[in-house]
Amino acid sequence: MPLEKNNRSKIPRVLEGWFLETARTFPWRTVDTPWGRLISEFMAQQTQIERVAERWPSVVARFPTPESMAKSDEQEILALWQGLGYYRRARHLKASAELICKMYSGVVPDTVEELLTLPGVGKYTAGAIASIAYGKREPIVDANVHRVLCRISNRSGDPVPSEWTWEEASKLALNCDEIKIFNEALMEFGAVVCSPKKPDCMKCPLQNSCASYKSGTQFEVPTPKEPAKKKKVFHYAVVMEHGDELAFEQRGDKGLWSRMWQVPTVESTVELTSSQVAVQLGVNDQLKYLDTIQHSLSHRSISLSIFSCKCARDARFHWFQWDSLAELPLASAQRKVLAVHYLR
Ligand code: SF4
Repeated sequence: MPLEKNNRSKIPRVLEGWFLETARTFPWRTVDTPWGRLISEFMAQQTQIERVAERWPSVVARFPTPESMAKSDEQEILALWQGLGYYRRARHLKASAELICKMYSGVVPDTVEELLTLPGVGKYTAGAIASIAYGKREPIVDANVHRVLCRISNRSGDPVPSEWTWEEASKLALNCDEIKIFNEALMEFGAVVCSPKKPDCMKCPLQNSCASYKSGTQFEVPTPKEPAKKKKVFHYAVVMEHGDELAFEQRGDKGLWSRMWQVPTVESTVELTSSQVAVQLGVNDQLKYLDTIQHSLSHRSISLSIFSCKCARDARFHWFQWDSLAELPLASAQRKVLAVHYLR
């Protein structure tokens, strides 16, 4: 069911007023530039906003303009991105910075059409930058917005088509006073009031306009998605030491953690013994088992077994001292590997 007409004019104003009074403080709202916003949007995909808020200032301080990032080494960006996961976003951000310099004279474009030409920028991010950074009357739909609009309209189904949500968001965008405020308000409202599991209906400024609250269906709307089935895989990481140096290899250009660094690692879809791991790595020395930890990604569940060995300085690997590892782009799973080794 679409939103009632009088709700379409009322909801934007209520949310804009609510946001102006209660908005959370984030650094990209204080130092508000289109480039800073673009960085925050890339960082926020699949990452908790509090973690983004911690890391954003150092990324913007190092890369204050698209040009500074376009000219930089990708490894430096990956190193700053460590721990945030989804490293493809960092590579897309650099590629976007390069394209902004080549095609848009170093200025983040202000239309959805142009923004969609940037690598890693989809309909949501393009709408967010055009509306929030440039005040263009464009709609945005993320998971928060989708949930709020479904609940207000009491729209369920399996699944509710995204076309419906975009259309409703477009109609609301036409009715708001200030699109920059309204779009941020709608997302923030979904994050802090109309949250997935605990909508705070008693304190909600939209309670009188909310069809699912009136029907008591707010906990069932929208219909929850089936969780994705995770593939189980086995990784065997071997911390090889030669004196005070450790061996590392760089991952390939494609796939998981591409171009990040790791200690020599064997990956398998079946469990392996330590001797099989040693053979596959071409290591003669006996491996010492340290621990096995579970590392969960969106589509993969990794059983990560950690070994160590003292060995000769094998030229197949790159060797780094402990005190230089802060600069090396390592995924968080690899930081865990090093922590386990260090504590033994
Ligand atoms: S009344 Fe409850 S379900 Fe409805 S919009 Fe408010 S918080 Fe969400």
